[in-house]
Amino acid sequence: WGYWGAPNPANRRSLLIFLKILNAMIETASAVGHAHDDNCIFCKIAAGHIPSRKVYEDEELLAFHDIAPWAPVHFLIIPKRHIASLAHTQPADAALLGRILTLAPQLAAQEGCNPYPAGGFRVQINTGEEGGQEVHHLHVHVIGGPRPWKK
Ligand code: 5GP
Ligand code: ZN
Repeated sequence: WGYWGAPNPANRRSLLIFLKILNAMIETASAVGHAHDDNCIFCKIAAGHIPSRKVYEDEELLAFHDIAPWAPVHFLIIPKRHIASLAHTQPADAALLGRILTLAPQLAAQEGCNPYPAGGFRVQINTGEEGGQEVHHLHVHVIGGPRPWKK
């Protein structure tokens, strides 16, 4: 323990309290990093402030029908917390992205997409202006059903 001397129990207790406070501060900061954007239409849908035709909901994800469908089945899966686009995701979002992708086939079947391989569905994530993204809250399009489709 050298220069600082051996910690006595009181010091150890305050060190633990300090670490707990530090941890709480870090957790708050990362949640605020992408929590909710007051000007974002999909944050408003996730919060229930704008109505949507819900397909699925859990603590971190929401799926709802696209307001302007291109095909017999067209819904969007979004994280409830605001992430502006796929370009904004971090390695820590891998589990969230994995959950969205594994949910897609389940919800596609539930919403009436025909089974693979004759049926199937398209999964699309428009990212940025050149990627065709219009709503800047990460969303995964799931599109399917009998053709022809509008797009
Ligand atoms: P993007 O081009 O950003 O990938 O797609 C955004 C999608 O969101 C579009 O297909 C559009 O029809 C859909 N959309 C935009 N505003 C609303 C809305 O208020 N409610 C629903 N359900 N869909 C929306
Ligand atoms: Zn948002």
